[in-house]
Amino acid sequence: MPRVFNFSPGPATLPEAVLRQAADEMLDWRGSGMSVMEMSHRGKEFMGIHAETEATLRELLAIPANYKVLFLQGGAIAENAIVPMNLIGRTGKADYVVTGDWSVRSLTEARTYGRVAVAASSEATGFTSIPPRDTWTLDPQASYVHICSNETIGGVQYHGTPDTGGVPLVADMSSDILSRPIDVSRYGLIYAGAQKNMGPSGVTIVIVRDDLLGHALPITPSAFNYQLQAEADSMLNTPPTYAIYIAGLVYKHVRSLGGMAAMEEHNKAKARLLYDFLDQSSYFQNRVAPADRSLMNVPFHLKDPALDGVFLDGARARGLIQLKGHRIVGGMRASIYNAMSLEGVRALVAYMQDFEREHG
Ligand code: PMP
Repeated sequence: MPRVFNFSPGPATLPEAVLRQAADEMLDWRGSGMSVMEMSHRGKEFMGIHAETEATLRELLAIPANYKVLFLQGGAIAENAIVPMNLIGRTGKADYVVTGDWSVRSLTEARTYGRVAVAASSEATGFTSIPPRDTWTLDPQASYVHICSNETIGGVQYHGTPDTGGVPLVADMSSDILSRPIDVSRYGLIYAGAQKNMGPSGVTIVIVRDDLLGHALPITPSAFNYQLQAEADSMLNTPPTYAIYIAGLVYKHVRSLGGMAAMEEHNKAKARLLYDFLDQSSYFQNRVAPADRSLMNVPFHLKDPALDGVFLDGARARGLIQLKGHRIVGGMRASIYNAMSLEGVRALVAYMQDFEREHG
């Protein structure tokens, strides 16, 4: 069976070169006589993998020295609770900008841990845009301002880092980390599950500025206390070793392709191809405000939703899989993370052209 073009929102397609290397190293990692899965997390082999993985991520994102990089378990949904547990204690308050399903979930979870306010929301317009920064109501006493940089379900994305003054900006970057250059110094904390642009599910990356540590609520479990994890080099509990290893291979692969600038160019080219097609089509439609469209997740609707099933069956027959939209938005969604090739997006557009010719 040839490899399919997998448009899954996550866990998502991974670079074939990374999968091949992992396969080659599966039984015997570089003469160690064992698989990475079998290594003690405190042994010299895995400690080396861990250190190299962190160093490569630091290099790719140019992470300043006053930031800790943590490799944790729990995923981004766990972080929705872990972030406030660790950060809200400074003032007891936090602001949330709500732009779609994922930021709604972050907000809802945070309410348990302090006084949480909605600084801005695009709910009234169906989460199809990012509220302009000058419409936000920010509390200068908030411990942090939370955003979701890319709404995986709705397909809206920030194209710029909002200025929150002296209040630390916290971003859920699960679905667009490593897709473009970012200025880490503009953020207080960044978190992301790995299973879109970085590797398999199981590892969560947290990048946190040093001065934000030390305010954890007393109820914070030690395994989720950023300061304790930073002191233990993310090894307070057993880290997700194999997922960290694969993430490290992905980071090196991305570096070999030219790093963040090259990823941004590649992702813009793919997104342009798909949006240009959608915009001229009288059969397919994307409903997101053009300025806020995601380069990673492209939801679209057929003119006749009764043909959704026919569209998906035809796509599968051409090796284009996982295009069904999230039930909240309906229709279709193409997730086109770093590892999706231009060829994959071309194949999708060609199929959509044929479909429109036949059914339009
Ligand atoms: N935030 C965003 C932006 C996501 O896309 C996802 C997963 N699709 C999550 C949070 C939740 O991730 P997890 O299920 O790994 O906790």
